[in-house]
Order: sequence, then C-alpha cells, then structure tokens
Amino acid sequence: MLKLGCHVGMSGKEMMLGSVKDAIRVGANTFMLYTGAPQNTKRKELSELRIEEARALMQEYDIEEFVVHAPYIINLANCVKQETFDIAVEFLELELARTETMGSTTLVLHPGSHVGEGIEAGVNQIAKGINSVLTKDTKVNVALETMAGKGSEIGRSFEELAMIYDKVVYNDKLRVCFDTCHVSDAGYDIIHDFDGVMNHFDKLIGKEQIAVFHMNDSKNVPGSGKDRHENFGFGHIGFEALMYIMKHPDFMHVPKILESPYVKDPNDKKKSYEPYKHEIAMIREGRFNPKMQEEILQQVNK
Ligand code: FE
Ligand code: FE
Ligand code: ZN
Repeated sequence: MLKLGCHVGMSGKEMMLGSVKDAIRVGANTFMLYTGAPQNTKRKELSELRIEEARALMQEYDIEEFVVHAPYIINLANCVKQETFDIAVEFLELELARTETMGSTTLVLHPGSHVGEGIEAGVNQIAKGINSVLTKDTKVNVALETMAGKGSEIGRSFEELAMIYDKVVYNDKLRVCFDTCHVSDAGYDIIHDFDGVMNHFDKLIGKEQIAVFHMNDSKNVPGSGKDRHENFGFGHIGFEALMYIMKHPDFMHVPKILESPYVKDPNDKKKSYEPYKHEIAMIREGRFNPKMQEEILQQVNK
C-alpha cells in the first residue's frame, strides 16, 4: 500500500487532532503539518496541541508516521544579519523538540537563502546552524529539502546538499526531502530519466537518505528555477512520470506528501477548493482524470 498523504493544517481548538481528522477525511495514510503558520514563529504551547488524542486516532486508522515542516522564515543560510540567523537557530531547536513530542522523526527544513553572500558562505552558515542544535542524542532527523533555486536558495543541486552533509558533525541525523516540483524546476530530468537522476543522487548522498517525497507537479518547464506547484498530473511533469516515482520499488516505504495548489473557482476569484481527496483517490486508482479540477468545482457548487 502506498504511503500517501498531504499537507494538513493545524489550528483552532483541535490542533493536531484536527490535522489527523483532515488526513483521514481525504483518504491519506500519512501527512505533513506545520506546527503553526508557515510564515511566522508564533507557536502554541505543546500542552494545547492535543497530541495524545491525535496519536490515538492515528493508531485507530493505522497511520504510522507523519512529518513536520519547519516554517519558511527559518533561514539558516543568512550570514548578513546575525539576528536572523540567531532566531532561526533558536526556533529550529524548539521545533525539533516539538517534532519529537508530537511523535514524528522527521523535520523538513528548507536549507535557506544566502542572500548574496554566495553558495559557500551560505552552506557554511547552514552547517554552523545545524551543528549548534544537533547533538548525539537528538531523536529527530532534519530532512533538507531539495529546492527549485529561486533567488539565492541553496539546495538547487544535490552537490549543495552534499556539501551540507560534509560539514555537519552528526550528519547521521540528516535526511533529504525530495520535492519533485523543485527538482524538476532545478533542471533535473525526472520526467524521462528519474533513475538516471536518482543514480546521480545516490552517488552524492545515498538514496536511502530520502525520508520523504513532496509529490508535486510543476506549473513550469524543467530548469525554470521557479517553484510553482501544480495539481498532480496537471503540470509539466505529468501523471505518468509522477506515478513512476510514486510506485518506485526503492521508495515504497517512504511517505509521499502532496503540496498541491487549491483549485480556483473561475467565477469567484476569492474562492478555491482543497484538491487532496480527489487527488489521492486518483493516485490510488492509478489513472489520470483530466476532469478532476472540474469535478472538484462541480461538487462544491452543487
Ligand atoms: Fe518545503
Ligand atoms: Fe516541498
Ligand atoms: Zn515549493
């Protein structure tokens, strides 16, 4: 059985319990959450997250694992402003503790943007940040996400991720989050040659290091460096290439997470609808449904 899930929210009174309910509602058997708004560092107390109830519900529905995503504002690569770096390190430490308490072993992290100082300086700063939070006893792995390379993002190439591995002391606690949209936008041909791309990755980092996939299609052509996600099968990567990765025997045990855009209502620009239930059903069926977006709109407009 595929380990397939999506990004779910965590807010309101239900918090993590609500996240698990959302995952179940869309037919997922794994999921990813942010511990609060992805754009800021405001976070609730652990005691308010309803972790025990969430874990009990996960068990009832055989959801074995989930991943946590650190907020985008953590920028460990920033070597221009000491304050930004310090905030990032401090928050990362708390986020690792939250991830552990919630019962996940994987915290996904965007390596960061060097904001003009260059790749080497950025990589050094990232390693410095990670080295100040990881100890030999850390129980959560930090999964560095492969990035599209927009702006001065580090992690566009596998070589850059390998450089971070080289500089981190406890790099047995590093992993990779392989985002298909980002990797394609970065210029790797996962459409025609996923195995070739993976061979290259394997030589540099090791394919067993992939702890999670973000299974996104892309609104842009390979190499665009853009990072705009598209619904599964509706973009430039396409259904067939994404399904090849989804069902790849080397990664059956690895959770696959959708981070899809909501389907926009053509008659009301303010409205958009969550696609996950439809996408997950389509993926489990294994057949592309070119009418999926229309069907989502029809259902909600009934
Ligand atoms: Fe991400
Ligand atoms: Fe992603
Ligand atoms: Zn993205």
